[in-house]
Amino acid sequence: MKSITSKEILDAYKVLNGEELTPGEALALIQTKPPYLMDLYSLADKTRLKFFKSKIDTCEITNAKSGACSEDCSFCAQSAHHKTNASVYSLKTKEELLKAAKIAKGHGAESFCIVVSGKGYPKANAEFNSIIESIGLIRRETGLELHCSPGILTKETAKMIKDAGAIMINHNLETAPSNFKDICTTHKIQDRINTVKAAKYVGLKVCCGGIIGLGETLQQRVEFAFALKELDVDAIPVNIHQKIPGTKLPESNISLTEILNFIAVLRLVNPTKGIKIAAGRNSILADYQGLVFHAGANGMLIGGYLTIPGRDIEKDRNLINSLR
Ligand code: SF4
Repeated sequence: MKSITSKEILDAYKVLNGEELTPGEALALIQTKPPYLMDLYSLADKTRLKFFKSKIDTCEITNAKSGACSEDCSFCAQSAHHKTNASVYSLKTKEELLKAAKIAKGHGAESFCIVVSGKGYPKANAEFNSIIESIGLIRRETGLELHCSPGILTKETAKMIKDAGAIMINHNLETAPSNFKDICTTHKIQDRINTVKAAKYVGLKVCCGGIIGLGETLQQRVEFAFALKELDVDAIPVNIHQKIPGTKLPESNISLTEILNFIAVLRLVNPTKGIKIAAGRNSILADYQGLVFHAGANGMLIGGYLTIPGRDIEKDRNLINSLR
């Protein structure tokens, strides 16, 4: 592995002029160590400010259907292959989802995402139709920007989501394509890529990211950043793996520097795309949460995550205000 110098960081300033990093350059940058860390984060921060100014986007999700998933993603508390304490319940009613959306609006969230556990909907069924109706109802009643995370879709089911009034789907790659087979055996990375492409084909925006700390190498983190660039996704959520008791994947012990270096490189590879920090920020970043924005992130998930609670919304609001 090559060690980074300040010259290589200076060379990366070309991103501010619209030039692209190569995977080799990104691999060098992700290995930045002291005393050059702040040089890297400063460039990522300048890139964030150039394209997003100082605005920090927020979004809130609701777990509309939890647990009992047929898939075996090794990190996931909702997989039926694991024995965890995650809640198991069927799809919430339209009224329950509308109530959750109104609470999110009261928290100041600009968008609201309906997340459904399970493999997905290659064909419409009664459950899918209920999601479609909920999207329409929440859109009409709250005016919130509606997102949906329904798992695998085809062009047909993606179009139904768009026609109902959602503007974005969330469907994560989760990790680098070359690492996916090591975290899931019940479906393939291509299934996820096809869903992203189907959503884009019908005109939905796509929020697509994943989790760091799933056993991937630094090369695979760079591969992940470039896979997202190639798919031309609109927003990239970044979760940090936290071991959930009962799941198969071991604890990652990822360091603060590794997290910040990944976010900085993700920003430089995808300069114009929204990068949101999500699960893991409270427990792993703890007092250093503000740093992720100065390393290039421009958004955060507020409220709770799917199977772990979030922190007090007021604290997040104070953090956002303190960054302006
Ligand atoms: S990540 Fe999604 S598909 Fe995988 S087990 Fe969890 S809910 Fe199922």
